[in-house]
Amino acid sequence: MKLALIGFGQAGGKIVDKFVQYDQRTGSDIVRAAVAVNTAKADLMGLEEIPQDQRVLIGQSRVKGHGVGADNELGAEVAEEDIDEVQGAIDSIPVHEVDAFLVIAGLGGGTGSGGAPVLAKHLKRIYTEPVYGLGVLPGSDEGGIYTLNAARSFQTFVREVDNLMVFDNDAWRKTGESVSGGYDEINEEIVKRFGILFGAGEIDQGQEVAESVVDSSEIINTLSGGGVSTVGYASEEVEEAAGGGGLLSRLTGDSDDENLDTAHTTNRITSLVRKAALGRLTLPCEIEGSERALLVMAGPPQHLNRKGIERGRKWLEEQTGSMEVRGGDYPVSGSGFVASVILLSGVTNVPRIKELQQVAIEAQDNIDDIQQESQDNLDSLISDDEDELESLF
Ligand code: GDP
Repeated sequence: MKLALIGFGQAGGKIVDKFVQYDQRTGSDIVRAAVAVNTAKADLMGLEEIPQDQRVLIGQSRVKGHGVGADNELGAEVAEEDIDEVQGAIDSIPVHEVDAFLVIAGLGGGTGSGGAPVLAKHLKRIYTEPVYGLGVLPGSDEGGIYTLNAARSFQTFVREVDNLMVFDNDAWRKTGESVSGGYDEINEEIVKRFGILFGAGEIDQGQEVAESVVDSSEIINTLSGGGVSTVGYASEEVEEAAGGGGLLSRLTGDSDDENLDTAHTTNRITSLVRKAALGRLTLPCEIEGSERALLVMAGPPQHLNRKGIERGRKWLEEQTGSMEVRGGDYPVSGSGFVASVILLSGVTNVPRIKELQQVAIEAQDNIDDIQQESQDNLDSLISDDEDELESLF
């Protein structure tokens, strides 16, 4: 499906940049427009792919292009004040050619954390197309203020979008490595998962010999109803066969072998579905209780089959307890991989969010205590003990 991507803040801009590269590399044709919004001029200048006229610097009168630090309340204020400038960039997007907006931001900082929910609210007021969010949670080693920012932004962002897809940096941190060291790899992981998901809805029926191609309306229906989503992924290398059958049948031309090959394809698909659902999700959570799910099987058409996808879909129904599990193909000729991408929408059992909120509340209490204490200290410094001195005015 065709998206208008808007990256808010540094993480948001970098991820949109990566999406554009992915789109060009794979020819998946999902990025119809790419916009970056920031309060920091240097961050906008560091982007590579987003056109210059689609980079919007906001808050110049307040922060003079230097960013808002990690102050997400200021980020939200500035976004509200300068929303017309953001709208100016969006005005140049042919919105009638877009299936949805996707607003991307890291939720732990200031600009994206505060601004992304403001923009989502604005877009929903103006356009009829769905407005989705992609929110990145900070690593737990980033400290209390980032956690507090993320918890407050998460709560606000979910309310303002049609669906909030979440990626948790903490779950993707490599052991012994700080999260910032691995952002490039993490961003690749993000665009691969979401690129396959949204790319699936971009294939026209009949373009490939496919049994049941995922349609963009199936993605939209899975995301509709709101709430929080997470995405699973698993892949396996396959050998590309020249004909319609698998490698085995091509070598032997034997129909028994062709059956065997079909069974092999089916089994591979079902095991990839399990791996994707039970492996590391973009936001780790219990999959049981998910409201809706969408299974996308991507790969060379001869390695996809309806039976495997149907079995995988049934298994997902059992595991999630959901009555609304969709599934289909995303044929990609010439790809050396078969990949399973699972969108779980309306997840509610997410221990990580509860933990984030707990740490955020502690951080908030600490900040209040420290502020009170430093106010008391300052008061006792500047006033004389017996209150004998008078201020000038
Ligand atoms: P902002 O510019 O004020 O919105 O803040 P940033 O986007 O720089 O940072 C916000 C949060 O996003 C950080 O706390 C990190 O958790 C995360 N982050 C920053 N850069 C990246 C990135 O390139 N990739 C990912 N996945 N997360 C990032």
